[in-house]
Amino acid sequence: MFDWQHRYRTLLTTLEQQGHLPWADQLRTQLIRRFDDLPHGDTKRWQGALESLPTVADTQADLNQSAIRLSSATPLDTSTLSDLKSGLRGLMPWRKGPFDFFGIAIDTEWRSDWKWDRIAPWLSDLDGRKVLDVGCGSGYHCWRMAGAGARQVIGIDPGLLFLFQFLSVKKYLGDVPVDLLPIRMEDMPRKLETFDTTFSMGVLYHRRSPLDHLVELRETLRDGGELVLETLVAEGPKGYSLMPEDRYGMMRNVWFLPSCETLLLWLARAGFRNSRVVDVTDTTTREQRRTDWMRFQSLEDFLHPKDPTRTIEGYPGPKRATVIAER
Ligand code: SAH
Repeated sequence: MFDWQHRYRTLLTTLEQQGHLPWADQLRTQLIRRFDDLPHGDTKRWQGALESLPTVADTQADLNQSAIRLSSATPLDTSTLSDLKSGLRGLMPWRKGPFDFFGIAIDTEWRSDWKWDRIAPWLSDLDGRKVLDVGCGSGYHCWRMAGAGARQVIGIDPGLLFLFQFLSVKKYLGDVPVDLLPIRMEDMPRKLETFDTTFSMGVLYHRRSPLDHLVELRETLRDGGELVLETLVAEGPKGYSLMPEDRYGMMRNVWFLPSCETLLLWLARAGFRNSRVVDVTDTTTREQRRTDWMRFQSLEDFLHPKDPTRTIEGYPGPKRATVIAER
């Protein structure tokens, strides 16, 4: 069985000390359901891969470079390196990164560092802040937030493989205040009003009710807290948003791609102040592509074979905007 009590002990204690007793209780119930009552079919295999990762002495982490880099003062011998590599390969596909485990470079499907480089210059200094990262994937950006000085980072993402990838990094960092919860935004308590910065990157278009998502995000923030929202957008006037008839770039669960003006309007109507678009970037097949660590189809296969500025369905190709706003 997955030892979630052990993995989340420090976080649960911290939440209780911070006065979030109902949240800690709710979380315990969710973790029991997720891991004890209804475990995912692959949990055992992923847990096995995680547990097979070798112990390494004198580890250090560099959280401020493009790859989250783990290193050791004592070089790893070949058999340790080979155990490490097969454990990490057991956690494929690796989508969000990159990572470097003691010289084993994990080239992930996404260059998540490029997204970080686009948003980082616009953030209020994360030093000492309490941060929430909604839809955090493997937690790549959570580590970058910790590297930027955040005092506490909580990532949430329902994808369980992401949790095991996250734990494979955390294993080598010790008891750091960075945690990933395997839950959806909708499963968080309402009105926490506690985070200094909340990130939602790559999630809004997966929500059938994007306005509700914005309201939920707002309720996570203290007064004056900052929202960092990154999402797919489509060109168009204020009020316009693209709703795909079915799939968008082969993704089934894409609902609304607003224009930037519409996105700002949604934010205003959800109660945010001072919203501004800080970046708009087309997603390219250099940023999202198949790699040795993610061998399934990737963006190249999701674009139109005759017109790569369009998705395979004929919609405008992926363009992402980042907005910063305040509660
Ligand atoms: N934030 C990362 C990952 C984006 S991928 C980045 O920007 O690189 C989108 C992630 O959102 C997926 O990992 C998916 O599991 C997660 N997700 C989808 N719906 C969600 C929801 N309702 N609540 C929280 N996370 C969600």
